[in-house]
Parts: sequence; C-alpha cells; structure tokens
Amino acid sequence: MEESEIKVIDCEIKEIEKEIRKLNERKKALNKRKEKLMNDVIRQKSLEKSKRDWNNSNFPWSKKLKSTLTEVLKINNFREHQLSAINAVMSGEDTILVMPTGGGKSLCYQLPAIVMRGITIVISPLIALIEDQIHGLKKLNIPAGMLTSNKSEEVKLAWAALDGKNDNVNLIYITPEFMKKSKRFMAKLQKVFNQKRLKLFAIDEVHCCSTWGHDFRPDYQFLGCLKAMFPGIPILGLTATATTAILDDVQQMLDIHGSLILRATFNRPNLYYEVRRKPNDKENCLEMLVTLLKSRFSDKSGIIYTTTIKDAETLTTSLRDRGLKVGCYHAMLDAEVRSKMYNKWITGSYQAIVATIAFGLGIDKPDVRFVIHHCMSKSMENYYQESGRAGRDGKKATCIILYRLADIFKLSTMVIGDKVGLRNLYKTLDYCLNSNACRRSLIATHFNENWSKEDCNSMCDHCAKSKKTTSTDIAPYCRQIYKIIDKAADTETNLTLLKLLDAWYGKGTASYRVSSVPVPKFSREAAEAIIAFLLINGYLKEDFVFNAYANLTYLVRGPDSSLVTDSNYNILFTHDETLKI
Ligand code: ADP
Ligand code: MG
Ligand code: ZN
Repeated sequence: MEESEIKVIDCEIKEIEKEIRKLNERKKALNKRKEKLMNDVIRQKSLEKSKRDWNNSNFPWSKKLKSTLTEVLKINNFREHQLSAINAVMSGEDTILVMPTGGGKSLCYQLPAIVMRGITIVISPLIALIEDQIHGLKKLNIPAGMLTSNKSEEVKLAWAALDGKNDNVNLIYITPEFMKKSKRFMAKLQKVFNQKRLKLFAIDEVHCCSTWGHDFRPDYQFLGCLKAMFPGIPILGLTATATTAILDDVQQMLDIHGSLILRATFNRPNLYYEVRRKPNDKENCLEMLVTLLKSRFSDKSGIIYTTTIKDAETLTTSLRDRGLKVGCYHAMLDAEVRSKMYNKWITGSYQAIVATIAFGLGIDKPDVRFVIHHCMSKSMENYYQESGRAGRDGKKATCIILYRLADIFKLSTMVIGDKVGLRNLYKTLDYCLNSNACRRSLIATHFNENWSKEDCNSMCDHCAKSKKTTSTDIAPYCRQIYKIIDKAADTETNLTLLKLLDAWYGKGTASYRVSSVPVPKFSREAAEAIIAFLLINGYLKEDFVFNAYANLTYLVRGPDSSLVTDSNYNILFTHDETLKI
C-alpha cells in the first residue's frame, strides 16, 4: 500500500521538478531579454543625448572658454570632440569620452575646472601620471593639488583648496586607492559639496572600472558610490579603450546609465603604414635603414624603435659610423643624458632618435615625419601608440615596421609572463605577414572600428600599390616540418628556429636532418614566412624553457597538428608573388 503511494508521490515530484526546470529556463530567458532591453533603453538614451548639438559656441560660458583656452592653456583650437565634451559636462551631463592616447582628453576637464572655478576632482590610476600632469600645469602657471600620503607642496595646496583657503586651486588629483582609504578626504569633500563648491568628477582611464577590461582595478569599484553621495555633480569618464561591452559595464558601475558617449575615431588619416621584410643579414638591414634616412627621409625628423637597450646602442653606433646624426635613448641612461639627447632631437641637431619604448611618455614634437620599427611591437595597441607619435601636426608622416620571424622569438620570451602577451604578439605578426589587406583596416579591427578603403585613401603600402598575390597549399611543407620536429622529439632535442631551418635545408647538425624530407626549392625567407604562418595559426607552437642564463624558445607541434595528418587537409597561405613558394 505505502509503496505504491511512494511511487505516485515520486512521479508527482518528478513532474514538479520538470515544471521547475521549465520555469527556471523561462525565467533565465526573460532575464536575458530584460537585460538586453534595458541596455537598448540605455543606449537609446545615450543616442538621444548625442543628437543634441554640443559642438557650438552659444553657451553662456563659450566666450570665457575660448579666452581661457588661448590665454591660459596657450592652445589655439579645439580638437574633435573636445568642445562637445566640455559643453556637456558644464551643462551637468555625465559624459564618457573615448579618444586615442595623445588625443587631448585632459583638456576636457582642465579647461572646465579653470572656467567653473570651485573644485574639480581628477581620479587617476597612477601617481606617475598625476605627477606628469601637475608638471605640465606648472609650466603654464596653473596651480593644482594632489592627494597622496606624502607631504609635498601639492598636497598642502590640495587640503587648503578643500578647506576653501585657496580659491586659485581648482584641480585636485587623487588615486582611487587614496580616496577609498581617506575618511578625512571624503568628509571634506562632503563639506565642499554642501557649500556648492564641488563642480566635476573626472575619472581618467575609466575602463579600469570594468571587470571586462584587462586593466581592471578593484579600487575603481569604490567610485560607484559617487553618484549617490554627490547627486547632480557630473562625472566625466575618459578612456582610450572603446568596446561597447566595457562602456556598458562602466556606466552600470558608476551608476550613470545612458550618459552621453563621445567617441573620436582612432583613424590617423595622415599616417602612411608600411611593412617591410627585414633582411636576415645585419649589414643589409643597416644598408636599408641608411638608404631610408639618406634619401626618403633626408632632412626629416623621426624615431627608430628597437626592442632592447643593446640594440638601441649598437644601431646608434652603426648609423653614426655611416655619417648619420642620430641620438640614443633608453631607460638605463642618466636623466641628464636623456634630456640632452631629447633636446638635440627636438631642435633638429639629430635627424632621428634610436630608442627603446621607454621613449614615449611626454614626447611633444609635432613634426615627427617617420617612425621606423627596427623590430615589431609587442601588440597592435603598442604599435598604434608608438607609430602614433608621427605626424601630430596633421601633415603626412610614414610608419614602417621591419619584421622578420626570428624577432618574434626574441620578443616572445619577454611577453610570456603576461596571460595574453603571446596572443597579442602573434596578432602583430599576423599584421606584418598579411600580403594584401589594407593595413588601416587591420588596425581598425583592434579598436572595434570599421574603416573603409576611402578612410585609407591609399595611405598604406597595400592600398597604394596592390601586390599580386597567390595562394599555396603549405600542408605538405607542414608535414615535412613535423617529421623534423618528431625526430628531434624522439631524441629529446629542442629545436630553435635556426636549427629547424638548417635541418630542413640539409645544413647544420647532421643528426637533426630527416632523409625523406627534401630540401626546399624556395628561399629561406619563404620558409620563414611559412613557419610564421603555421605558428600564428596553431599548427606550430612555441615551447619555453627558462634557465639561469636565458629564456629560450623552441618550436614544437601546435594544437591543430592532428588535423594535418589527413593527407587531404589543405593549409592555404596567401602571400605576395615575390616569395615564390
Ligand atoms: P590623452 O590624455 O588623450 O592621451 P593628453 O590630454 O595628455 O592626451 O594630451 C596630449 C597632448 O595634446 C598634450 O601635449 C596636450 O597639450 C595636447 N593638446 C590637447 N588638446 C590640444 C589642442 N586642442 N590643440 C593642440 N594640442 C592639444
Ligand atoms: Mg591621458
Ligand atoms: Zn590601406
């Protein structure tokens, strides 16, 4: 009797569970739909706001803005979106400004701060960045305060300004860490707010709020309370990172849904992008650089980027031996030497500066006509920034990368500590290896932008002169490479790129060679291009060995190697005709 009732109950419970599962699924779907609709509403709100004409000079403060811009900041004209951003925040709108590095974001809170008087709080992630800004403002005789645990002049200025004892200080810089820690500061800020002296929050590198970004900083979460604590005070978020998901997230976190979003394009139409295969032979490579500097770029000013300090020094010496006037710049030089080099370059005594990427922060030379990368950058973002130092004056400038596969192995041991470092590096290799796409369109995809052929206007090597390309199935060569790799693995030998190439071409150590693998009929350059393509597409992989002397990298089969076993499997490699594979 009981047993049959238990069965009935079990049956009913199962039915209920089924219903619950169904309802839960329905709930999940509804929640998802709701989230999407809410995001749409928010985006719609942002869109409505962006339709208003912010870019005009009919605001009550317009005259004062213009005169302060020229007289105090010594700048003649606004750049794209600067005036809109300033008008919006001065109208009390929460605003997010997306602009590439060097675009001029700081002006969009500095100028309102000076014109509105009162207090503008600038939140910045690093003390070094804050010090840089304060240094720049000092040169313009604009006093600014900063809050750290030190007791510097700027710190005293900041507290005095908060206490209402120094009306000339309108800008106070602070890190989120300090803000979160200092109850004293938050209490004072509350007072300033009550006295109606608080005008604006500017949050630099605002993408640090979002857990989506690679730069997430937990202390930025604290900023989520600003809107509730200081209602009516506009928030200006500034960033060079522009994906929609991050911007949604940032607005959510700061509680400024549907704020005005101003997005400047990342396209630099006056930069000509070019990639060249770097000669394997050092002398030939030097010759190439010398020719560029003596002919195409003669009388022009530029930067040559290298990866290591040693490279920067040897290259400087070699170029000087050839009669060129160049300076050297890297982090190991004394500050005094560095500033001497910099000045000689700025004033034109040096045609070029040979530098590691330590050379970057605060370069303020508008007429840089060329940026040559003697070695690839570590990521497309880095490349964009480094090459972007050319042509700040809006006139035509050229950006050239010299690339070769061997350089990848130098860089990969440097970036492997970073989770996405290798992926970013391979994307740069992909950019270099590409034989026909518009370089600009390749850069655009990194910033979630879409630039058409017209946006390039023949300002890249591929658009200027379309190269003839062919597609070759390189799967057979891939199989040959695997034979060499497998043989090495059997004897527990590590194959560097050089050893692998030697073995393929029947050179070097005899025991690495495989008799059934024929010597390629194409150049070593073509072989390198094939290996590079296999590497970025997962058919080959770098293996890292770290010992006391060096970090070494070897080539092994990649995650997709099993696919190639099938003899019908093709790997199509599109390359320009000069490679002759
Ligand atoms: P971001 O923060 O966007 O990277 P910055 O605010 O540091 O850029 O500005 C970069 C440089 O551009 C600074 O030297 C600044 O003085 C200059 N700058 C900003 N706006 C203008 C402008 N409208 N005209 C000329 N130079 C400007
Ligand atoms: Mg900035
Ligand atoms: Zn192009």
